[in-house]
Amino acid sequence: MSKSKNMGWHSVSLSGKVRSAWRQNSSAEETLRLALKRFGRARVAFATSFGAEDQVITDMLVKIDPDAKIFTLDTGWLPAETDAVLKKTVQQYGISLEILKARPDAVKNMVREHGANLFYDSVEKRKLCCHVRKVEPLKKKLAALKAWICGLRAGQSVTRAGAQKIEWDEVFGLYKINPLADWTETRVWEYIKNNNVPYNELHDRGYPSIGCSPCTRAIKPGEDTRAGRWWWERPEQKECGLHIKDGKLARRDNGSS
Ligand code: SF4
Repeated sequence: MSKSKNMGWHSVSLSGKVRSAWRQNSSAEETLRLALKRFGRARVAFATSFGAEDQVITDMLVKIDPDAKIFTLDTGWLPAETDAVLKKTVQQYGISLEILKARPDAVKNMVREHGANLFYDSVEKRKLCCHVRKVEPLKKKLAALKAWICGLRAGQSVTRAGAQKIEWDEVFGLYKINPLADWTETRVWEYIKNNNVPYNELHDRGYPSIGCSPCTRAIKPGEDTRAGRWWWERPEQKECGLHIKDGKLARRDNGSS
């Protein structure tokens, strides 16, 4: 199967039944079922950072397949509230998560050369930190998969405006599945409330998007939902290297939330 830029789910070799389901504009649950069916449980995994969208997907995925593979990245800078929701999620759903960490020697060398708070020095150093603490361990994990599931929504930010339910991830060389690509923030929270899904307490304190402690802050009313992430950078720079498409971070500025 040839893999080109912008390759979408429609380009994947699918059985007639699965292809037909995709053409009917699959729901989030259907997208997850299709992914598990198409790639197999061993070759597709969900990457969670325990944000609101991720918690919705965890709830759906565990109900579809309690043994579906779920992993997370421990950057060493996660807020205590994120650790708390991790523990609560594991307990409530009875699941086991794989926790990925950066290579200790890589972190040690980076900190020795640039300091522990290098992310505030420049965009380049911030991206270096994200690369060492997030991208490298993720890359190693994704090398064994055919597809990964993410909680991206098109309406989250300018860097995510073109997110599709199924797309080819040109950075890591596998399919990326975004079951909530077409969901609104309101719909996410309705699902959480209606299904008693555990969520990060920071969401109630003005943090719609939560990452590492030193790189995340609460937002003001009316700000973009990712305005609190790397707030000192321009909106089109705000990704950590995990979610890039068409060779760039931003595709269009739609002023989305
Ligand atoms: S979000 Fe900040 S602390 Fe976390 S990996 Fe990126 S630069 Fe480093």
